[in-house]
Amino acid sequence: MFDKILIANRGEIACRVIKTARAMGIKTVAVYSEADRDALHVEMADEAILIGPPPASESYLLKDKIIAAAKETGAQAIHPGYGFLSENADFARALAKAKIAFIGPNVKAIEVMGDKIESKKFADEAKVNTVPGYLGVIRDAKEAVKIAGEIGYPVMIKASAGGGGKGMRIARSRDEVAEGFTSSMSEAKSSFGDDRVFIEKFIEDPRHIEIQILADKHGNAVYLGERECSIQRRNQKVLEEAPSPFLDDKTRAEMGEQAVALASAVDYESAGTVEFIVDKDRNFFFLEMNTRLQVEHPVTELITGVDLVEQMIRVANGEKLALKQDNIELNGWAIESRVYAEDPFRNFLPSTGRLVAYRPPGEGSENGLTIRNDTGVYEGGEISIYYDPMIAKLVTHASSRDAAIDHMARALDAFHIAGIQHNIPFLAAIMQHPRWRKGDLTTGFIDEEYPDGFSALAPDGAAKDVLAAVAVLIDHLGNLRRREIDDQMSGPAFRFAEERVVSLGGEFLHARIAGRLDDDCEVTLLDAKGEEREIIRIESDWWFGEPVWSGKLNGVAASVQATPILNGFDLAYRGIHAPAYVYTLREAELAALMPEKVVPDTSKMLLCPMPGLVVSIDVEEGQAVKAGQPLCMVEAMKMENILRAERDCTVEKILAKPGDSLAVDAVIMEFAQVMS
Ligand code: ADP
Ligand code: ADP
Ligand code: MG
Repeated sequence: MFDKILIANRGEIACRVIKTARAMGIKTVAVYSEADRDALHVEMADEAILIGPPPASESYLLKDKIIAAAKETGAQAIHPGYGFLSENADFARALAKAKIAFIGPNVKAIEVMGDKIESKKFADEAKVNTVPGYLGVIRDAKEAVKIAGEIGYPVMIKASAGGGGKGMRIARSRDEVAEGFTSSMSEAKSSFGDDRVFIEKFIEDPRHIEIQILADKHGNAVYLGERECSIQRRNQKVLEEAPSPFLDDKTRAEMGEQAVALASAVDYESAGTVEFIVDKDRNFFFLEMNTRLQVEHPVTELITGVDLVEQMIRVANGEKLALKQDNIELNGWAIESRVYAEDPFRNFLPSTGRLVAYRPPGEGSENGLTIRNDTGVYEGGEISIYYDPMIAKLVTHASSRDAAIDHMARALDAFHIAGIQHNIPFLAAIMQHPRWRKGDLTTGFIDEEYPDGFSALAPDGAAKDVLAAVAVLIDHLGNLRRREIDDQMSGPAFRFAEERVVSLGGEFLHARIAGRLDDDCEVTLLDAKGEEREIIRIESDWWFGEPVWSGKLNGVAASVQATPILNGFDLAYRGIHAPAYVYTLREAELAALMPEKVVPDTSKMLLCPMPGLVVSIDVEEGQAVKAGQPLCMVEAMKMENILRAERDCTVEKILAKPGDSLAVDAVIMEFAQVMS
């Protein structure tokens, strides 16, 4: 076995590989860019080598620097993680030349599978179902239209060198084919330097289901079930699960056997993923093969009990697979949530900065429920603009899909992140979505269910009662605490069991709290007539000031995020976000008389939607602009965002200039006339 391996990656995947290597008694070498001096993977590894400036093209993508680092430290093998050099045949070739083992497949497999036309032809020959279409390069728009007619509409136009959803177009008519062909070709040329384009049938309302395979250098290959990754936003996976709620044993076996046949045809070794698109009738078609460890591999590990990274290392070391197809069992259900640094309330714009607080839920297994959190960050660390905005992969496992979802909902409620925006409210809301719960998924789920973007759920039903009870308890504990501090609370002694009014997201609920003064108590919710409606027994050792309340409500564990605001708390739970205020009856009477705070009118202003750098201002003071016209460009996380006029208006005042670094909501310009 290797004594020492180098991990040519960063973030959570580098940490993930280090964990397994350490468990196997293998020493580890990290490489890092200047932006990652204080990164977790650098700290976790036994040794670390600086390889260059922050941009990946000047550090993590430089094969020579990485090979030199391996030589310098005596690492005998390199694990590439995912992204970066993981699917780069030249890198694998250079390693072979340098006599360093590549913990991944052979060069041929990477090359064949890296090209969509070639891999589709290859799959076709290996008798794998491929999407009906034309298996060749298309020369011009005229030929494209002719071929689309033969395939039948709608069709998908794809770049052969494509990836990350780029160079892909749906066309539903002759005109759309002609247009889509031209734009797909030019996008392919500019993104990949390769303008080969092909056409296949567009599968309507599909699911994305992929098969994990493992193969060794001795001709053995097995499949480890599937992962369903249909919940995607802009072709980026958001939630994954294993198994798929859609597959039956027969389809699973057929897909698995085809995936293994494809792997064998290309003499595959190591871990790999064969992606399929599956239609309503469970017909499945090969999409592409990813010749690397996949981001969402933990869900497969949790249902099979196999450590895929360990298997990859063993295969690279020349060992035979100890696993036999008959011994691979799928147990229970696993769900993965990708926690991203992005603002779900602002159209998922990236969010960067310091992680002022980072408290993931505790990992481990209890009563058949498991939480795993793969991460590369820590409290006080920074989410930089240079790399992927993924903060963590939160994974739960349980005996059934429902139990795994419930556990995920609780784990998300307990996950506390502050300092940057994150998508936990969105993930938490999906966990409550009836269509997700039913497993009725397609790749269009997010677009269909959130056509106008995401907004937090309003308090309702049982969740509303939970929040009211927790608000009353928090208020009660706050009062007790203030009472303990001399002179902070004068006046008559605190009267227990007195009626309270909870203002929750604008609604008023009446309740009484009783019981012991510290940890255990009872909140009685009252109806409009003042009658007892519901009694909630609460056990908790939460102390006032902790950002996440957790405890048991009628014996069931729950967590509620409680962020202090003026005179109250902002509560978040199960995708609900609501400010909560707790009043005495008299205070409630008075509160009802308070004028509502008017939100300032920002409709005449252009606000900076995220922290970023002004690249250009494209208008002048006094200029009349039309709806949709670009006003300025702001760069954040390597993405240039064009901010456009929402309606016809005149620019009155410009408050920012190119080069300015702006905070979120900074006013960029003001408009004079707003014509709606
Ligand atoms: P998968 O198909 O395994 O789910 P995705 O295609 O969603 O993975 O994401 C993998 C992509 O992540 C890579 O192709 C790359 O664009 C990006 N990436 C590269 N390096 C990293 C990294 N260190 N951390 C996170 N993402 C990365
Ligand atoms: P990439 O290399 O960008 O990952 P893929 O070929 O894997 O490209 O496709 C990415 C996504 O695009 C799929 O997960 C699926 O949602 C959609 N897609 C691709 N091909 C088709 C098709 N023929 N019909 C319908 N959807 C498709
Ligand atoms: Mg893909």
